[in-house]
Amino acid sequence: MAQLSGKSVYLTGGASGIGKAVTETFIQEGAFVTVLDKSAAGLEQLKQEYGDRVLCMEGDVTEYEDHINAVRAAVEAAGKLDVFVANAGVFDGFAKFSEVTPEAMSDAYDLLFTINVKGYFNGAKASAEELKKTNGNMIFTVSGAGFYPDGGGVWYTASKHAQIGLMRQLAFELAPDIRVNAVAPGGTLTALNVIGPLKPFVTAVDPDMKAKSIKSRNPLRIAMTSEDHVGAYLLLASHQSRAITGEVISSDGGLAVRGL
Ligand code: NAD
Repeated sequence: MAQLSGKSVYLTGGASGIGKAVTETFIQEGAFVTVLDKSAAGLEQLKQEYGDRVLCMEGDVTEYEDHINAVRAAVEAAGKLDVFVANAGVFDGFAKFSEVTPEAMSDAYDLLFTINVKGYFNGAKASAEELKKTNGNMIFTVSGAGFYPDGGGVWYTASKHAQIGLMRQLAFELAPDIRVNAVAPGGTLTALNVIGPLKPFVTAVDPDMKAKSIKSRNPLRIAMTSEDHVGAYLLLASHQSRAITGEVISSDGGLAVRGL
């Protein structure tokens, strides 16, 4: 039997990359998925591929109202909400502490933290009441950068540590009604957007170079794709993990045993 049969899921950043792969797998496993994303084109593509199994909401995770509207629409369409996946995020292009200027700091810091941290908080706040009714769960996409340096720059790494802190605090406060966990992917071949004030810090890398670099940095020597991580989300979303809360599943090719 499908593992998420009859489940209603709300996920952010599902129009691309890891969020899209999770959306696709959850639909294949029987879920109805409501996706909030700012990419109209990506959402249109998703709609064409999955029709009435997916509800596409164009919006911005930094706007609390957009989450409220998405949760309301999910409940109207599916009658309930079982799972919230906070996933939409942006990257700082390995911005180095020693190189960032005070001017860039305020713009880039605010932008990245508002999307990566406040965006997760907004979604959790908007969905908690409905998740309580179903004894549901939340899953945060964090990163190897939530544990180790050099998986991003100074702002991205700090934001991923903050997401783990938020996840643990929510797991504590929302028990016993709602489980809250995270998946920490390692470097993965996706678009992972760098936007606006963050762009000056980015050096363009071609996909082959990126694959080689990702492979060389994890013990399993995998150039990970989005699909490599979906099993962890499936486990955390399903009843199989009913005793797990406040945990992070690392899906990173073994960064913890990298050694020196
Ligand atoms: P991606 O760029 O392919 O997908 C991110 C999606 O989020 C896009 O569809 C984008 O439109 C959406 N988005 C971005 N800002 C938004 C906003 N303000 N409001 C609404 N939607 C917004 O990137 P990805 O690599 O799939 O990243 C997804 C998550 O995975 C992020 O949290 C990222 O930090 C994390 N992650 C990525 C990697 C990696 O190497 N790619 C590694 C570890 C963790």
